[in-house]
Amino acid sequence: MQGQLCDSLRLYPDPNATELCQSLAKRAGLAVDQVFVGNGSDEVLAHTFQALLQHSEPLLFPDISYSFYPVYCGLYGIDKREVPLAEDLTINVNDYQGPNGGVILPNPNAPTGELLSLVAIGQLLTANPNRVVVIDEAYIDFGGQSATQLVPQFDNLLVVQTLSKSRSLAGLRVGFAFGQSHLIDALERVKNSFNSYPLSSEAQAGAVAAIEDEDYFQQTCQANIEQREQLAGQLKALGFSMTQSHANFLFVTHRSMEAAAIAAALRQQGIIVRHLTNSPRITNYLRISVGSASDCEMLVQALTELLSSS
Ligand SMILES: *Cc1c(COP(=O)(O)O)cnc(C)c1O
Repeated sequence: MQGQLCDSLRLYPDPNATELCQSLAKRAGLAVDQVFVGNGSDEVLAHTFQALLQHSEPLLFPDISYSFYPVYCGLYGIDKREVPLAEDLTINVNDYQGPNGGVILPNPNAPTGELLSLVAIGQLLTANPNRVVVIDEAYIDFGGQSATQLVPQFDNLLVVQTLSKSRSLAGLRVGFAFGQSHLIDALERVKNSFNSYPLSSEAQAGAVAAIEDEDYFQQTCQANIEQREQLAGQLKALGFSMTQSHANFLFVTHRSMEAAAIAAALRQQGIIVRHLTNSPRITNYLRISVGSASDCEMLVQALTELLSSS
């Protein structure tokens, strides 16, 4: 990768990211015209909202979900209907029916980490045959099954993924989407009509190297999953309960101490956990990223002291 880059940095990058698209297509078992790449999945999502989700009926997404969806709706003037999560904070796909301009949801969802099965996603696709259903798989590699395998079967499915989470490459800015070629064509048209920001040569070379290093990828995902399960057990022993996370974070609430107070106390010790206040239903929850073994040890130590002194 290094040699290739030294030579090629004086040239403009390949505008089509050909080699990267081929790598992604091959790994997903799809054709190269079923792949779209962008500068992070946030850019892929921006093109998706503009190209595929602008309709007169409202776009559906969960009321507790990725915070950029309402932002993009505002930016592109798209009507939205936020569908409440079920009582246990899971998504019920039967709630995503009737007239709509499309559906978008993260799987696993953020910040809950709850996972939908491919059967449930198939039901969602079948119930919305004339609209695009976008499955945002930012966290799918931490224990879920990707919906990319449903692409040949459903012409209304777009699956969005990123190198930012499970490949630990957020700084590289590489995201991508899989879908049948008519959807990918629509994304390309929008992209080429208003911007010409291809992925940099470094991003393309780095992404190809990352995609091809399957062993390292499997190893790091597995390590994160094991760390997550260990941390979950330790937090339960400290009086926390939690959603069933299939992501690289836990979404927890404590039986006696308030989430805001826990977050503030941890912050004093330089430990940052996320206290989201945008929905009343989750104000007593914390989203805790699964860090390294020593990060987690520090967290558990701090919580043990905090909860025994409170
Ligand atoms: C992190 C995240 C993204 C965006 O990731 P990029 O770094 O822009 O690739 C998109 N959707 C969800 C649900 C995320 O958590």
